[in-house]
Amino acid sequence: MAFARILGHPRLRGLLARAVGRRRLPPALLFSGPSGVGKKTLALAVGRALLCEGDDGDACDGCAACSRAARGLHPDAILVEPDGASIKIEQVRDAVREIAGRPFEGRARAFVFDEAHLVTEQAQNALLKSLEEPPATSHVFLVTASPQALLPTIRSRCQTLRFSPLPQSLLETHLRETSGLSPDEARLRAALSGGSLGVALAFESEAWRDLRVELLEMLEKLGRAGTLGRMDAAERLSEMDDPILALTALRSLLRDVAALRAGSPALLNADVAARLEPLARGPLGERAGEMARAAGETRDALEGKITGTNLRRGPANALLAFDVLMDALGAPA
Ligand SMILES: [Zn+2]
Repeated sequence: MAFARILGHPRLRGLLARAVGRRRLPPALLFSGPSGVGKKTLALAVGRALLCEGDDGDACDGCAACSRAARGLHPDAILVEPDGASIKIEQVRDAVREIAGRPFEGRARAFVFDEAHLVTEQAQNALLKSLEEPPATSHVFLVTASPQALLPTIRSRCQTLRFSPLPQSLLETHLRETSGLSPDEARLRAALSGGSLGVALAFESEAWRDLRVELLEMLEKLGRAGTLGRMDAAERLSEMDDPILALTALRSLLRDVAALRAGSPALLNADVAARLEPLARGPLGERAGEMARAAGETRDALEGKITGTNLRRGPANALLAFDVLMDALGAPA
């Protein structure tokens, strides 16, 4: 039942289940699409379906293989994730050796590379051969929100499945049912998540709350900060653990400032309304809607969603993007 538990993507789910059922799954697949929409979850589900002792194209959840795979203990289900900032050559060499081998227990082996764009270039070259001539029993899944960061030779050896953002209505229902949010809160969060369950769920986390406190302080100071103050703010933003999440939080705060200015009571950050109100009455209030859009665009650019952009994930380019954004935010009205 691995496929049934996945939120959204009915066409891709059906396609992959059929391919597994008919034993026609391609050896190398590239799952591309925005962060937090379920790419890795679906790749792992395909892996479980491959390992299941049944043969209807899905995991039965009842056999020994399913039980082990569900606990992450199946020797033929291998997840490769970044070690720090990248997936290193040693990790890829280990995986390459395994890909060439036979299954230990099942009839196949599944290798999921999460955040595959973080495989270093040297390591991508090491991986090439495995994608070219893998044994029929090995299946490789490259999961990434930035496929353009992969070598063209890697991309051309994979069949690409493109994931779309999740529909807002689906996220809204899911959030209402699983997070105990009110219909208004669920609607707002779904709207702001850009179709990413990962982003929608991040709104609940402690990291999110801490981030918001920091951003509020920054917004409160920005009006009187001057050029150097704004550059300093940009630098602090670009050095945050997760600049994408920081931009999502910034956008949600600016969106609320604009809503307050327009007299709307429905806020995403209702718990900090008392701090947002003075901002809405100040010079930022008038431009907050426009700035929220700019923050969203900066996020898209950093995620590589905008084609033709020179911005890539990375501190130097994030700093440049934040500089531009902070200048616009702090500029006198
Ligand atoms: Zn099973």
